[in-house]
Amino acid sequence: MINKLTLSICAVLIGTSSYAQAKQPEFAAHHCKAAEINAQHYRNFPDALLEAQARQESITAVKQARRDNRHQTGESVTGVDMLAISDSPGYVIPVVFHVYGTVHNGDTVTDAVILDALYKTNEDFQGQTADYADIDPEFTGVKDSLNVEFRLASIDPDGNPTSGIVYHPNSSGAGNYSSSDVKNDHWDNYKYMNVYIQNDLYADGVTNNSGVAWYPDSGMSDDGLARVTYNGAYLGTNTDENFRSVLTHEFGHFLDLIHTFEGGCKRGAAKRCGKTGDKSCDTPQQNSWQMNPGDGGILNCLGETINWQNFMAYSDQYANYTQDQVDRMVNGLASPARQTLWSVSNLVATGTAD
Ligand SMILES: [Zn+2]
Repeated sequence: MINKLTLSICAVLIGTSSYAQAKQPEFAAHHCKAAEINAQHYRNFPDALLEAQARQESITAVKQARRDNRHQTGESVTGVDMLAISDSPGYVIPVVFHVYGTVHNGDTVTDAVILDALYKTNEDFQGQTADYADIDPEFTGVKDSLNVEFRLASIDPDGNPTSGIVYHPNSSGAGNYSSSDVKNDHWDNYKYMNVYIQNDLYADGVTNNSGVAWYPDSGMSDDGLARVTYNGAYLGTNTDENFRSVLTHEFGHFLDLIHTFEGGCKRGAAKRCGKTGDKSCDTPQQNSWQMNPGDGGILNCLGETINWQNFMAYSDQYANYTQDQVDRMVNGLASPARQTLWSVSNLVATGTAD
């Protein structure tokens, strides 16, 4: 079956060839430019690179603290018991969705669709899905969840009631760094996580890019540019059960996660796994993004089974984050660009405290 997704994907990959359309996998719509745009960002803004390097330095302490907490609370360090580990008191992130046009590739973006998408992304982060419980056995020992809830704001920046969803006329280009929509419509980046929903992310006429996001950076937050940008056609029930987790993937970037296939697979790199690739040692290197059981295989260049179900891959069955990735997110949440979001006073100010 050539569904709408396959068709739209193929528009990017191979233009108008109908033969190739039927043959193309679903990768193109996954294609997320996070690696490129963040690398570009660090080239343009040396201070952002310094901030990222400082963040990298602090991960060791976060990792130790989380491991200590695990032992103190008597939790198992492996398997499903990991679910019981608390990052107490848990994180709540106030979110505002800016929606540009309500029909994206024939699908409609409504409050209900956004609520569903957010609910399911929270389930993904919290390890509440059937796939998480039934993960590839090789990764039951390292899979992990983050006690976080992304919650729609109920008080806007002026102190007025809000649904946390703001509708705008159709527009495009919110995936481009200096998008005027992003700058003009943002809510204080230190108080709200801003999510921009557009159909044509880069204003280039392509409507099947699913999403893109930048890692934490206080310079971007200062300028009102911190965000996740996402295509309404792949939001919640507007897409299939697996593909809707691409929103979870983008939120992972927002909390400082890197693609599991970053840098490919190299002999010798395993020794430097905390500094290369996705900088998470418990996610085996991937030869490329084209690795799934049905396509590309799941053994890397070292013969190791990859965590193909990881949210930061392009997976046919999204299921889990790992312990090292959760360390990285907890560390990202403590960064200058993110730590004010979940403070108790901010939850009260944004109406997300309960
Ligand atoms: Zn990505």
